[in-house]
Amino acid sequence: MTANRATHSELVLRGLGVSPGVGLGPAVLLPWRGRLVFRRPLAPREIEAEVARFHAAVSIAREQLQALRQRVEQALGREHAYILDAQRLMLEDVGILGEIETLIRTSAINAEWAVKLVTDRILAIYAEIKDDYLRERGSDIEDVAHRLLTALAGDRISCAFPEGAVLVGETLPPSLLGELDPQRVAGLVIGTGGWTSHAAILARGLGIPAVSGIHGALALIEDQAPLLVDGTQGLVFVHPTPEVIRRYQEQQKERERRWHLLRERAPLPTMTRDGVPITVRANIERISELEDARHFGACGVGLLRTEFLFLQAAPELPSEEAQWQAYRQVAEAAGLEGVVIRTVDWDENQMAALGSLRALRDEHLATTGMGDREPWIPERNPALGLRAIRFSLRWPQVLKTQLRAIARAAAFGNLRIVLPLITSVEEVHQVRRLLDAVCHELRTEGVEVPDRIPLGVMIETPAAVWLAEELATAADFLSLGTNDLIQYVLAVDRDNDRVAHLYDPFHPAVLRAVNHVMRAAERAGLALEVCGEMAAHPLHALVLLGLGARILSMRPRAIPLIRDLIRHCELAQVRDLAQRALTASRGAEVRQLLLRGLEEMRLEVFDEALLNGSAPPLRDA
Ligand code: PEP
Ligand code: MG
Repeated sequence: MTANRATHSELVLRGLGVSPGVGLGPAVLLPWRGRLVFRRPLAPREIEAEVARFHAAVSIAREQLQALRQRVEQALGREHAYILDAQRLMLEDVGILGEIETLIRTSAINAEWAVKLVTDRILAIYAEIKDDYLRERGSDIEDVAHRLLTALAGDRISCAFPEGAVLVGETLPPSLLGELDPQRVAGLVIGTGGWTSHAAILARGLGIPAVSGIHGALALIEDQAPLLVDGTQGLVFVHPTPEVIRRYQEQQKERERRWHLLRERAPLPTMTRDGVPITVRANIERISELEDARHFGACGVGLLRTEFLFLQAAPELPSEEAQWQAYRQVAEAAGLEGVVIRTVDWDENQMAALGSLRALRDEHLATTGMGDREPWIPERNPALGLRAIRFSLRWPQVLKTQLRAIARAAAFGNLRIVLPLITSVEEVHQVRRLLDAVCHELRTEGVEVPDRIPLGVMIETPAAVWLAEELATAADFLSLGTNDLIQYVLAVDRDNDRVAHLYDPFHPAVLRAVNHVMRAAERAGLALEVCGEMAAHPLHALVLLGLGARILSMRPRAIPLIRDLIRHCELAQVRDLAQRALTASRGAEVRQLLLRGLEEMRLEVFDEALLNGSAPPLRDA
């Protein structure tokens, strides 16, 4: 984070935009919510009453969390409510509760002190974890401890903020965010936590603009100071000048005007000026997004991320039946245009964080008879560990259940399967063998299964780039996952705000890798789809089109902008631009080249926020 004083009173703080949009309002500081806790020795006759007081507080906290979960589920859907399940499970964890009770009895201390000792010990373990995602789950422990201490004091957690406030905190606990009315909160400024923190996930789900990574926010911002939060660019203006406010308001108006224009042009075909048709499809990660995909004119679903099914089922694993219903629903909704279903793209750390790892190990034991008794240790580097296809092949029962559900749903629509993080041809053969066996098994059970379900490979590692030709012979189609490809080609963690400036889709190494894959697919006569974020960004999409991409898949809200861009561009010119981009030695050169190209082609110049692919909320569209 950097800070500079633009005028004598305006302070500009730079962080990480974790939920897009702009919010303006007075700061409400949420200082560390920890309660002062004191040790009170108990007389032996007081101990039983203290244990009873502790259990009463646990019951109150559980009821509060249950009510909160229902609210979040109603407002945001089950896929967000799971966040509170982790806390509910802690309040049911006999290990934790038993430890607190034992401490009250054996040390003869008050319940507050016992809660503090136990939760501090657990927090210290979380603080040591290297993985950001897992370490951030420590905030759940803090949140539960605070709720318990509040219940012990006979209070309720209060959420009475003035309307239109921007909430500022070092961390913003998920249970607090769950209680917020998004219409009444203008924005969030968060000290610590990345893109995957619960606060960030909930802010995006609630549509509240949020900036994270503003370390020391509580010391830098005074209570009631006017704030402007730009969650798209990751900026927070403290005491914004009237010019800054006016500029943002104008940008917002302009963005809304363009957005309406784009929506009006939506029925036009997606074809370049020189008559080349381009297919634009939707990436979706929950069933409710099907509606957005249809609304924004997607030509089928180019990527169905299936992790939401594992979130919903946690701490159990999703059953074949639950998966089948979801895949069938998507297949029917997508119609002839079809759906590409990606097998689960997670790692064991994420499964452990959800509490599902135990179910995974138990199921493995039950189905194979083989023990998995080694103590489980979190992976130190999950992005390079047992992730995605490696996870699925390590736990074949999970893969088999998923393939069975997909194969059964394939009778209801045009379904294809894509495998994430492939690094060898053998991985594809292994899945193909399992898929063939699953289809055979289903047919013998009398279930209707299509003759062949196309199996595709995600190209998102340097290994897959260099093996593209061989993978093209083993697979039915290729799908370019640029989000991971950039991360692995440039060795830049895509979720780490400290190296975000190095994450450059225009880096020559990235463009040359993309070009290599496009040529390999061309030689093999195989369809190549691009489903990473590059497809959703106007400048990046131009290069992709120029390099030969004809199928782009993106989050639904980016579709109108990209379709409009396609209609305005002349493919011959774009091809020439892409060829020049391939000879550039720096990403910045490529960006300049493309911005000049946009001007030469007289393509509408989009403002920065639109270049970032953000769009106003659906209800304004
Ligand atoms: C990608 O890596 O580009 C991709 C589409 O998958 P995800 O973002 O889910 O890793
Ligand atoms: Mg990926």
